[in-house]
Amino acid sequence: MDFVDEVKIFVKSGDGGHGCISFRREKFVPRGGPDGGNGGKGGDVVIVADLQSMNLYDLRHKKHHRAKRGGNGGGADCHGRDGEECVIHVPPGTVIFNDDKSEILADLEEFGARFVAAKGGRGGKGNAFFTSSTNRAPRMAQDGEEGEERWLLLELKAIADVGLLGFPSVGKSTLITAISAARPKIAPYPFTTLVPHLGAVDRDPTRRFIVADIPGLIEGAHQGIGLGLKFLRHIERTRVLIHVLDMDRHSGREPVSDFDVLNEELRSYKETLLDKPQIVAANKCDLPEAAERLKKTVAAFRRRKRKVFAISAKDGTGLAELLDEVERVLSEPDRPPARRRSPKRS
Ligand code: GDP
Ligand code: MG
Repeated sequence: MDFVDEVKIFVKSGDGGHGCISFRREKFVPRGGPDGGNGGKGGDVVIVADLQSMNLYDLRHKKHHRAKRGGNGGGADCHGRDGEECVIHVPPGTVIFNDDKSEILADLEEFGARFVAAKGGRGGKGNAFFTSSTNRAPRMAQDGEEGEERWLLLELKAIADVGLLGFPSVGKSTLITAISAARPKIAPYPFTTLVPHLGAVDRDPTRRFIVADIPGLIEGAHQGIGLGLKFLRHIERTRVLIHVLDMDRHSGREPVSDFDVLNEELRSYKETLLDKPQIVAANKCDLPEAAERLKKTVAAFRRRKRKVFAISAKDGTGLAELLDEVERVLSEPDRPPARRRSPKRS
């Protein structure tokens, strides 16, 4: 069973309503003029990137999406009402292709981005519209235009602005819980533990960003070990990574070599992933015995000209500074890829 990140859907917009042929009938007015109203516009099918979930799971169960047709025009210059649009909600990062995937129709990267997948048919004109000096009593009206229909292929590429990297048990889940307000529901996947968890960080509503906990990235992931390629693929479009290291002396982890091993995984998968800014977070600093490790880690990274953010996901220490840094990096314009250094390590 696969991670649901590609689905095919059928969309059909509403037909336009028909125009009406009608003549005014009033007492004592023997021959009233034409008053047939126009038909309403059919509803559009719109795809909106405003979901917090990070999968297209729901769309797998609902494939057909139809908007309502426009109402017919009526007498007494009554225009038909416009058909209600049909809104399909998807997560940001959804790319929309045509049926055979030969063309990208839209790339809904931004939260709230919209794409009109099928435009509603225009309403037909009623006979009142056709009245002219030469034809004062037109006996014609238009039918509404038919709606569009087509199959589309949706693919979810990105999951979030910020990805959390780190070996199991370094504290990624604890961190995402500590910094994000929203707890988006995760769709019932067969392997729920394999679903990256998303959290929205809402310190400032105008600058909210989405953090994804990418679980189980371990050595050999690029060869499909552990959760494998799927998640590496999903971090491709995050804008910044927080690399979480474990300062617990008893964890059996080696922070600096852990850092290198995971970066090696990223490199093996795709070298350009190394161009993504990485913020180093030394977690579990609340532990009394963490101080020594932290000192060593900071020193090792200083030699690499990297700043280390000492945090405790558990008691909240250092999280504000960490998030300030995340916001700072996110607010930077996208940087051109840095020139790669030789793979030699310090
Ligand atoms: P993940 O596998 O990276 O998601 O790690 P978890 O968030 O599940 O955390 C693994 C263990 O580390 C759990 O027992 C957490 O309670 C513990 N933990 C996480 N963050 C901290 C921290 O800042 N301080 C301490 N003392 N323990 C932590
Ligand atoms: Mg976890």
